[in-house]
Amino acid sequence: MTEPSVFTRILRGEIPAEILSETENVFVIRDIVPQAPLHLLVIPKIADYRDVTELAAGDPALLAEMVAVAKDAAAEHGSGDFRLVFNTGSGAGQTVFHVHAHVLGGDLAEGSLG
Ligand code: 5GP
Repeated sequence: MTEPSVFTRILRGEIPAEILSETENVFVIRDIVPQAPLHLLVIPKIADYRDVTELAAGDPALLAEMVAVAKDAAAEHGSGDFRLVFNTGSGAGQTVFHVHAHVLGGDLAEGSLG
């Protein structure tokens, strides 16, 4: 059996984190190492999908729910504008292989892709 991910352990209450909001399928926490003034993580409760490509193929409705939850969380905790990032693969910086979206908001001028 594989080890539960850090996010599963947070959901179980084994690792402390404030759950800012949740739906039946998704929950939101603050990233422990924020990379922007607003840095949230939107995470499915199920750990079946390693990354966004697996999720998109396996459960597109859940991916759409993550985007909707990200929008609401960015409105509630930030200005409403946000960047949504899915690191995909260790070469792209993914460290937790339980799919999650980074919601980045605030002053993103530094390191901007745009
Ligand atoms: P990845 O690098 O896989 O895209 O993103 C994983 C994110 O999870 C990182 O930004 C990291 O800071 C965050 N993270 C790792 N462990 C914890 C934790 O225990 N609590 C919280 N809130 N975030 C965590």
